[in-house]
Amino acid sequence: MDKVLLITGASRGIGAATAKLAAQQGWTVAVNYTANSLAADEVVRTIRAAGAHAIAIRADVANEAQVMDMFAHIDAKLGPLTGLVNNAGVVDVSQPVAEQSVARWRHMFEINVIGSMLCAREAVRRMSTRYGGSGGSIVNVSSAAARLGSPNEYVDYAASKAAIDTFTIGLAKETAGDGIRVNAVRPGLIETEIHASGGKPNRVAELKHHIPMQRGGTAQEVAQSIVWLLSDAASYTTMSLIDVSGAR
Ligand code: NAP
Repeated sequence: MDKVLLITGASRGIGAATAKLAAQQGWTVAVNYTANSLAADEVVRTIRAAGAHAIAIRADVANEAQVMDMFAHIDAKLGPLTGLVNNAGVVDVSQPVAEQSVARWRHMFEINVIGSMLCAREAVRRMSTRYGGSGGSIVNVSSAAARLGSPNEYVDYAASKAAIDTFTIGLAKETAGDGIRVNAVRPGLIETEIHASGGKPNRVAELKHHIPMQRGGTAQEVAQSIVWLLSDAASYTTMSLIDVSGAR
């Protein structure tokens, strides 16, 4: 049977690196994105050129109807889902909490938290032996921010990732007897475009001397941990929050 994997936010950065690495390790990959179809198509093209199978699917993870359609599309085109990487996530511009708006908090929590919970719910409905599935693995992409708090940058983002950590622990316990493993990775400062989207394209270079390893990480280094957690090599690993942060 094919190993079928959905990665949210896989058009670039950590999601795209994970999609390519997972495909090399035998996964059929659904490459989700919300805006940049050209980038998602390029990820799919790369995977297919290497002889594996992938499709691109547009859906905003914060939109329940779009997420339901995405899972139905995967059911029809790829077959039973056995892997999910909840990777789609956003930051916002650096601001102290005193200056942040409710609209900003709602937007961030709807994507980072509710989007991940929604995709996990749909994955569990398909993977759980309790619902007739054959088991599976879920990896949530949290952040070192969940334990650092990100003062004067984005405490709201850090809080959204702390919610992901707690969700990971609870869902892991809830589904461990039903064939599902649930883990999280907590990347530190990783070289991707997310920093530009928060108005700081040089953030990793500016902060790297505060990282004990003295450098930012790559999307590939995070992908290696995610793909390991997805694999049978991690068969007794669940409820783990794995830091990939150069000791930050
Ligand atoms: P990125 O380069 O900004 O990529 C974000 C991806 O998410 C893009 O593919 C984007 O797709 C997609 N996306 C954004 N909003 C979406 C939505 N509502 N629905 C579906 N897809 C959506 O980010 P990254 O740095 O690779 O980060 C990936 C994950 O790692 C995030 O959860 C982030 O919080 C976490 N993380 C990153 C770092 C870091 O330093 N980079 C550190 C810790 C944790 P489109 O382009 O199509 O919009």
